[in-house]
Amino acid sequence: MKFACTILLFLISGSILHAQTQSDYSIRELKNGSFTTDKTYIYALPFQKGKKVYLVQAYDSKFSHKGENALDFKVKEGTTICAAREGTVIAVRSDSDKGGLKPEHLSDGNFISIQHSDGSVAHYWHLKKDGVVVKVADKVVKGQVIGYSGNTGYSAFPHLHFEVVQNGNQVPTRFSTKKGIKYLRPSKKYLVP
Ligand SMILES: [Zn+2]
Repeated sequence: MKFACTILLFLISGSILHAQTQSDYSIRELKNGSFTTDKTYIYALPFQKGKKVYLVQAYDSKFSHKGENALDFKVKEGTTICAAREGTVIAVRSDSDKGGLKPEHLSDGNFISIQHSDGSVAHYWHLKKDGVVVKVADKVVKGQVIGYSGNTGYSAFPHLHFEVVQNGNQVPTRFSTKKGIKYLRPSKKYLVP
């Protein structure tokens, strides 16, 4: 009986210790926004090399991204937008010059949608009128200029809304930044390496 208890104790303490080590590790990773065990694709920030951008909303931000895995980069109208990942252009719109926060503005946004080799699709939103320089079926390489940012559609200020959708769900993506590979966080500036 005593022996059995000792074994049981040993097993319990072993699993607690293991759990603690694992959670400490992921908390540390979460804090600095990097996951060493991550095997997911590393996206490029969708701007030109050397550009510094401010991220207003990130994953699950309170203003309009509650429950969403999408990013809002605050950039001046006309900022050059580059492909964050190579793929094929599957949809574009660039004829709108309307934007704002009224419900009707939801259908006024210019955008580019690019499909990647794993089936996921990146959406680049709120582009300026005539601010799309690619067309459907074009193959684009990572970093290629694809358009210019704006303030069209459901938008309170000039910005680029970026999201990646896989199997109908928005998924968080990690990026290469000047300070390393990170999941971006709101209210922070990031420099394109
Ligand atoms: Zn957004």
